[in-house]
Amino acid sequence: MSNCAIVGVNWGDEGKGRMVDLLTRQYDIVVRYQGGGNAGHTVINEHGKFALHLLPSGIFRSGVVNILGNGVAVDPESLLTEMRDVTSKGVALTPDMLKISDRASLVLPWHRRMDELEEQRLGDRQYGSTKQGIAPFYADKYRKKTIMAGELLYPEQLKKRLCDLLEWANLTLSGVYGAECYTMPMLDAWLKDFCEPIKPYICDTGAFLHDAQAAGKSILFEAQLGSLRDLDFGIYPYTTSSNTLAAFASVGSGLPGARIDEVIGVAKAYSTCVGEGPFVCELFGEEAETLRRIGAEYGAKTGRPRRVGPLDLVATRYGVQLQAATALALTKLDVLSYLDRIPVCTHYRVNGVLTDRFPFPAALADAEPVIEYLDGWKCDISGVRAWEDLPAAAREYVSFIQSRLDCPIRYVSVGPERDSIIIRD
Ligand code: GDP
Repeated sequence: MSNCAIVGVNWGDEGKGRMVDLLTRQYDIVVRYQGGGNAGHTVINEHGKFALHLLPSGIFRSGVVNILGNGVAVDPESLLTEMRDVTSKGVALTPDMLKISDRASLVLPWHRRMDELEEQRLGDRQYGSTKQGIAPFYADKYRKKTIMAGELLYPEQLKKRLCDLLEWANLTLSGVYGAECYTMPMLDAWLKDFCEPIKPYICDTGAFLHDAQAAGKSILFEAQLGSLRDLDFGIYPYTTSSNTLAAFASVGSGLPGARIDEVIGVAKAYSTCVGEGPFVCELFGEEAETLRRIGAEYGAKTGRPRRVGPLDLVATRYGVQLQAATALALTKLDVLSYLDRIPVCTHYRVNGVLTDRFPFPAALADAEPVIEYLDGWKCDISGVRAWEDLPAAAREYVSFIQSRLDCPIRYVSVGPERDSIIIRD
């Protein structure tokens, strides 16, 4: 059975969660391999509506094992809150079907505070962080100033490690920001309230995945955010602090030798972007307001209104290439049904020069979108389940995008529910 990664090819919020929720029935294991609780996957199914932040989207399928890989920023407090929310709605979570990598590093109590303090310090130059502590966490992970989840299982060594980290964190908090310090009793309370309850789920998920792959089990790798937010290849510094690309799935999942046969890139039928940073196709005023309202474009984590614009083929093609996508899922096509004609950005003009290559981040400030218009279809398509039943103009829109992205669009989603999807052969 083949392995597959589901990834975003835009700025995030493309609808990856609904795709994982749909496709998990074909897989034995779902692994989240990067990012933290700073974004959300919205999933609507027979259990209700969920905004998942850390939990893999496969938790709703019985028999599927869900893993938080070593590349994930595990915040015990957020994770526990999410686990309690999901179980209160009737979804079972047991250590048999939810596993946390012993090598996943933990978001420590001060990371959120440091995130807030840094955004405050930056004032109107801020990065638009969701203030979940993700940037300070990854910085600390790479300078080895946090702990791995597995260390919770070695209490004696843990105590000493936490004392050292506390000293380091307080030097930063008081020295850089003049902020209040944390104390050991505060850390003890954090351990007791949030870390103890997740301990039963922590194990060597690398060994588990290795054995599973050897036994022919199929694995679905789930990413957070999208290509344009990748730390190395996105719109730095307005990126996230981890690698959102499928290429990182093997490392971040804990299965460096993973064989990934298929990469499904998820793209939205128009553009949205949360937070700061260059967004070449941004719409403003009434046009933006209408698209935002009809597309319900408000952040799953923060409720922030998303910036919106027409589909940006320059950024999306770059995103598809970065992901080496083998197929695409185009989501939210139904949202565009109100438009008489649909704008699409086919090129950028950068300092007067026409290009279809996505520029270096610093050059984006000088990029202007070149827009083409396609015919709208002006009717409700949310009940359509077969490609032939889509209006001709909608098929034309999808085919136009496919030809420009040079990647087959295998799924077209026309509503948020699990079955609101057209699967093309
Ligand atoms: P993710 O982080 O990539 O999983 O995306 P989000 O969950 O943040 O955002 C996608 C939003 O679009 C969610 O509210 C979904 O319920 C919704 N959604 C997904 N697919 C469709 C679709 O085809 N049509 C509509 N109208 N909404 C969709």
